[in-house]
Amino acid sequence: GCKMKKLEDYVRSIPDFPEPGIIFRDVTTVLQDKDGLKLAIDSIQDLLKDVDFDVIVGPESRGFIFGVPIAYNMNKAFIPVRKKGKLPCETIEMDYDLEYGKATIEIHKDAIKPGQKVVIIDDLIATGGTIEAITKLIKSLGGEVVKIVFLMELKGLKGRDKLAGFDVEAVIQYE
Ligand code: IMP
Repeated sequence: GCKMKKLEDYVRSIPDFPEPGIIFRDVTTVLQDKDGLKLAIDSIQDLLKDVDFDVIVGPESRGFIFGVPIAYNMNKAFIPVRKKGKLPCETIEMDYDLEYGKATIEIHKDAIKPGQKVVIIDDLIATGGTIEAITKLIKSLGGEVVKIVFLMELKGLKGRDKLAGFDVEAVIQYE
């Protein structure tokens, strides 16, 4: 019917956050609406319906929100990537650049077995730095990234250029 809301309608856009000139795409308004939440998860999951894979990797913390329900629905495992210092067992780590400064993320060494096919899920791609670092972690563990999916893509930041060679899709694209 004509009252059907699209996913875009649930995203709140906040001008000048966290600094002047930036339009922040706020996913909390998607999550806090039961129809928005379902539409978001279903839409990301739909991008994976023909993909042959073994495990889903998602970064802290919004990658968890979308990664886990999709892993559960598709009967796959979920592997968290966390900020340095949070994972209790043996890890490998990767540094990457943020807009200001650097960050370090970690994954458990035994989380991915050589040859496993991996899907990466996150809420949003901006510069692509986070996901690029994650692809390197997966590669060093012998995993193969077969697809990378996002709810939102900020196209102007050209994050896809950092992920050249990977199959990348986003449900919503902003210029
Ligand atoms: P990257 O620049 O692609 O590495 O993005 C880093 C992180 O910043 C992503 O995980 C996003 O969740 C977050 N981020 C950057 N811009 C936005 C935004 O407009 N809305 C929500 N999250 C954002």
